[in-house]
Amino acid sequence: MARNGETATAQQTKIKVFRSLGRRLVLATLLFCLIFTLAMVTLRTWLAWEQNLAEMNSELVLIDQVFQNTLSHAIWEMDRESLNKQLASVAKAAPVGRLLLTIPRPGQSTEVIELNRYNAVNAGPAPVLHRELVAQPYAGAHEKVGDLTIEGDNNLLWERLWGEARSIVITQVIQSLLLAGLVMTMFNRLVTVHVVHIARHLGNLTPGTLKRHFKLQRSVHGQDELSLLESQVNELQDNLQAHLERQHQDELAMAASRDQLAELVEARTAELKAANQALEALSRHDALTGLPNRRYFDELKEIEFRRALRHKIPLTVLMCDVDFFKAYNDTYGHLKGDQCLQQIAETLRSVFERSGELTARVGGEEFVVMLPNVDARQAYEAAQQVRAHLAARELPHGGSAVSPFVTLSIGVAELDPLTMDHFDQLLQRADQALYRAKHQGRNRVALQDQ
Ligand code: GH3
Ligand code: MG
Ligand code: MG
Repeated sequence: MARNGETATAQQTKIKVFRSLGRRLVLATLLFCLIFTLAMVTLRTWLAWEQNLAEMNSELVLIDQVFQNTLSHAIWEMDRESLNKQLASVAKAAPVGRLLLTIPRPGQSTEVIELNRYNAVNAGPAPVLHRELVAQPYAGAHEKVGDLTIEGDNNLLWERLWGEARSIVITQVIQSLLLAGLVMTMFNRLVTVHVVHIARHLGNLTPGTLKRHFKLQRSVHGQDELSLLESQVNELQDNLQAHLERQHQDELAMAASRDQLAELVEARTAELKAANQALEALSRHDALTGLPNRRYFDELKEIEFRRALRHKIPLTVLMCDVDFFKAYNDTYGHLKGDQCLQQIAETLRSVFERSGELTARVGGEEFVVMLPNVDARQAYEAAQQVRAHLAARELPHGGSAVSPFVTLSIGVAELDPLTMDHFDQLLQRADQALYRAKHQGRNRVALQDQ
């Protein structure tokens, strides 16, 4: 389950939408420029507004200065034609929106002359100028002849403002776009390209390519963050390579010691096997004569017995006993007795050397021979042969009552499938035959009772 979860997370990471850093930087720059532009446009528009108001005011003041005396003079002189002309000229001046002239007339109602550039009322923030018109009929005399009000042209004011605001917006937007473009280009050239390059390099790294150092493709003087990244990547590669090499060496050493260990185990196992085999051989053989011992004989006897019964082949047993051996020991000593037993074993071995024939030492000076596929007659012959071979050796026996040399009494018995169903019956028969041989005078072979 945990593994599935990990795989799912890995896939999610893989399918995440790739969002370029440069693009995000440009978007951030644009957003910043937009806010900055709004602030700048507001500020600059307000400044322009103030300036336009001031400009319009000074224009109105100038007009007033130009026309004040002539207007006052025309009113004083009651030169209607000149007054109308001058008022028309003032009203036509660009910054003037509305003109209001009030002329007080003694004893009559005040005359009001209004000239409006527009038919409708053009109220707004445009500056308004109020002046008293004073005539100087002679030096030192000041006579008020009327009140002049000049209102600035609101439409003109707005027009000027919009024109300036437009140019401010356009220049700010162009400036922002250029800035964003510049930032993107610089960022791409200085950072993005190299970061992508580093990522590709890392992605293509394998244990075999760790030796290849990474080199940024650019020409810079001095160090910066990318140079630092470059040197750190290379250091990481070096460390990794050293680590892998160490690991490889360790693995080789481990493999070598494993092989050594395996060889050692193999050698020890072989030694153990040989020792076991030797031990087994020892446990199955008689130490003095080297012949199979009773234990070994017991292991094999039933097998041979069953085999003979199954295949209906004869099986005979020879029971051999050294005559007057006690006397031999008494005469020559136990050590000589041992040597005598070895000579007898040697004699038996020389007669029964065919495969399948088994000679074993089953008691102190008793030997049994088991002869598969040999009948009683042949066994009898073989027993006589043993006696002859032993006689030929002429082992002196001063204690024997039957011969000057060491002799054997041998009982021979053959398997009778009708009356016997286990080996010891056959052995018993041979023993009985041996007993008879002893009683009949020793140094002879006796066949089982017929
Ligand atoms: P018989 O002719 O009736 O067989 O007389 P015997 O003296 O051979 O028989 P007995 O059973 O009386 O004596 C057997 C002797 O064999 C007794 C013992 O000292 C001797 N003997 C048994 N095993 C060994 C042995 O390993 N080495 C030696 N030197 N003598 C042994
Ligand atoms: Mg005996
Ligand atoms: Mg004996």
